[in-house]
Amino acid sequence: MNKIIIYHGDITKVECQAIVNAANTSLMGGGGVDGAIHRAGGTKILDACKKIRASQGGCKVGHAVITTAGNLLADKIIHTVGPVWNNKGVEEELLRSCYKSVFDLAVQNNICELAIPNISTGIYRFPKKLAAEIAIEATKDFLKRNENFKQVIFVCFDIENYLIYKELLGMTE
Ligand code: ADP
Repeated sequence: MNKIIIYHGDITKVECQAIVNAANTSLMGGGGVDGAIHRAGGTKILDACKKIRASQGGCKVGHAVITTAGNLLADKIIHTVGPVWNNKGVEEELLRSCYKSVFDLAVQNNICELAIPNISTGIYRFPKKLAAEIAIEATKDFLKRNENFKQVIFVCFDIENYLIYKELLGMTE
């Protein structure tokens, strides 16, 4: 069974045990997918983020934190902070670290189903193909080592990302 699925659309509409948010270090919400998740999920998410911020001062780039999903269909949200692309040679490792942190938290919280947006490829300008290669490699590596994990849904909001994932995963219509 293929455990990697791609979906073209809005992550707030996806029914999945947990969804991933491409947050920023403040955890206070922002634009893009972060804004969409907070708008659709309601204030409980921001309240939970504020608590984390008060106890550990936000979230570092490449790290992740977990909260309630508020009014969304999911049970939990895993917020990770992707790197801003500045072509400094550190961004790839930081993006890899985002996926690793997300999967670590999923395992720790008995989550076996994740919907993940294309972290860093919006406002943070990470090259889309390179980001997709990192996402897919990290996911395949994780799934190989965690046979009980059910599925990972790559949620591609823009058509460009969707087509990149389709090609890299060898999926045809
Ligand atoms: P970042 O700051 O990490 O680049 P963005 O939210 O700007 O975060 O973009 C990350 C990706 O999320 C982009 O590919 C963007 O097209 C996508 N995106 C924006 N809104 C949504 C949404 N509602 N559902 C899923 N993906 C979204």
